[in-house]
Amino acid sequence: RAKSDGRGTFRFFEADMDARMKARRSLELDLRRALALKEFTLAYQPQIDLATNAVTGFEALIRWEHPERGMVQPADFIPLTEEIGIITPIGEWVLRTACKEAAGWSKPVSIAVNLSPVQFRSPKLVEIVMSALARSGLEPSRLELEITEGALLANTESVLATLTTLRALGVRISMDDFGTGYSSLSYLRKFPFDKIKIDRSFVSGMVDNEDCGAIVRAVASLGASLGIKTTAEGVETTEQLAAIQAEGCGEVQGFLTGRPMPAAMAAALLSDSSTL
Ligand code: C2E
Ligand code: MG
Ligand code: MG
Ligand code: MG
Repeated sequence: RAKSDGRGTFRFFEADMDARMKARRSLELDLRRALALKEFTLAYQPQIDLATNAVTGFEALIRWEHPERGMVQPADFIPLTEEIGIITPIGEWVLRTACKEAAGWSKPVSIAVNLSPVQFRSPKLVEIVMSALARSGLEPSRLELEITEGALLANTESVLATLTTLRALGVRISMDDFGTGYSSLSYLRKFPFDKIKIDRSFVSGMVDNEDCGAIVRAVASLGASLGIKTTAEGVETTEQLAAIQAEGCGEVQGFLTGRPMPAAMAAALLSDSSTL
């Protein structure tokens, strides 16, 4: 009968919800322990200058090596850390570790660190960046902070104040995943960026879709006229690389030119390469 069917469905849904809540709570507990247990590491992905073919820097990407879950990708835990308010200490660890590791490299290439919008809004951000620089001895000009459009949605004055203070320290600011949010063009005019990272979705569409090529070309030329560097994210094939180069993009970062790698491999790559 309809009534019992409804009840059955409801019970089933309730059990499903309960299981999901439990899974989430267990992930949350594990995350809270992960920092103390040193389960996070950083992978470094090279960025290549297309004019010289040299490695100009690396982006630090967090990895979580959970004893039972195995390797957990950032997309599967960063949103929860933002929600439960522990992205700030985790982000602080990322910043300190990336600065420390990069300070030991044999070449003064740049190190890019992702900032969550939550971290970007934290009143402690500037202090944390200053302290990471001071403790590591990293030259501020080598540090690049990547923010997404989500960080810019807050009050314009406070965003501008934070960006201005950070740049006064000598660090650079990159706009990450460019083109995936909205009103990107007005942000470029309003806020001081040193680099635009063109989102992977445009790069992967370039070879088959004329619109993607047109967008990459437009962003590259906009960057050139505004004096902002452009990096194409997620370049996987030689066809995409050729297309990116033809559109005037200055730099690439993708599986074709280098996967995210452990710190020791990044250091070795720099020592081995004769360029720069
Ligand atoms: P993102 O900052 O845009 O980083 C680039 C992502 O694209 C990385 O994924 C990288 O491994 C991946 N990627 C690079 N080249 C290619 C390619 O050729 N093909 C494909 N399919 N993917 C490519 P990852 O490491 O899984 O990170 C995902 C996102 O998680 C990052 O996107 C960033 O938003 C966030 N994230 C990573 N590390 C941190 C961190 O330390 N703090 C914060 N707040 N967010 C982080
Ligand atoms: Mg990034
Ligand atoms: Mg990106
Ligand atoms: Mg991304």
